[in-house]
Amino acid sequence: MSILQNILPSFSDIRTLRPRLLVVDDQSTNIQLLYQVFAADHEVFMATSGEQALAFCQTTPPDLILLDLVMPGMDGFEVCRRLKEDRSTSDIPVIFVTAHDDPAEETRGLDLGAVDFISKPVNPAVVRARVRTQLTLKFQSDLLRRMVFIDGLTGVANRRHFDERLDSEWRRCARSQSPLALIMADVDFFKRYNDCYGHQAGDECLQKVAAVLKDSLNRSADLVARYGGEEFACILPDTDQPGALALAWTMEKAVRALALPHQCSDVAKVVTISLGVSAMVPQPSSAEAALLIQQADAQLYRAKQSGRAQVCGAADGVVPPDGATG
Ligand code: GH3
Ligand code: MG
Ligand code: MG
Repeated sequence: MSILQNILPSFSDIRTLRPRLLVVDDQSTNIQLLYQVFAADHEVFMATSGEQALAFCQTTPPDLILLDLVMPGMDGFEVCRRLKEDRSTSDIPVIFVTAHDDPAEETRGLDLGAVDFISKPVNPAVVRARVRTQLTLKFQSDLLRRMVFIDGLTGVANRRHFDERLDSEWRRCARSQSPLALIMADVDFFKRYNDCYGHQAGDECLQKVAAVLKDSLNRSADLVARYGGEEFACILPDTDQPGALALAWTMEKAVRALALPHQCSDVAKVVTISLGVSAMVPQPSSAEAALLIQQADAQLYRAKQSGRAQVCGAADGVVPPDGATG
């Protein structure tokens, strides 16, 4: 498994993809014209008002928008302004399509964040070329944005992604007063694994462990990240302590079931992991997601001390007295 295999399915060559275009125009003849230009190698969606366009982008963001400037009700400028102020739609490139040829309008559109202006009546070859250019840029920046958040060795989320997500989930769960759980997992006797089998094999082992941890997650909001070295961390929103403990044991068994030989381990003949679990309902007053990490870390330490290849967790995030394993 390589990092590119993780990313490329969403990127690939845009000629083999069918990019999703949204055409917004109050005149259906204009929409039809653009539909004919693009339908063969794009998925073309249509909206006849600004409101319709915004609603569509909220549910299924397209790769690019061809936006009429003059429409009754909400005009193109306003649609563009709203798209750009919303984080979930701000990255969609907007090309204005307009009958006017006014530098002041064009400047205003570009200032609002549009990437290009095309004048009506459209020339099919020109509009195709400009759309292709913008789609290429869009897919390249999508790829870069994703790479910034991905661990280069294992393809799971990196530490930066983990930190950002933990912070946002902490605040979200504080608002909704729902539990947030964290699992910290660390490969047992991994220094010896490197010493026994070599660093290259160690890298491959980490890739396999990461893939298994990722496969163990059930919900789309769950996140597994490489926390550092041979340590992984899983963020589990809306998950309580029993739920997180059960998942942690599933992970422990799944890694064991990989059956990667580890003849230098004291705990098993195969690669194993130790896991620490913490869960709590975040308090709105406290911005202390660090507490969740500290407690999961403390539980991971207990799991190591108690013989490795096991899960430890504290009820409701309270560290129990010595000896009580969750
Ligand atoms: P424990 O069971 O207590 O966790 O022991 P351990 O040997 O796994 O823990 P320790 O922290 O002593 O050693 C971790 C090792 O992980 C040392 C380091 O060389 C190795 N390591 C960290 N990152 C990587 C990596 O990216 N690739 C490889 N191959 N090894 C790594
Ligand atoms: Mg280790
Ligand atoms: Mg470690």
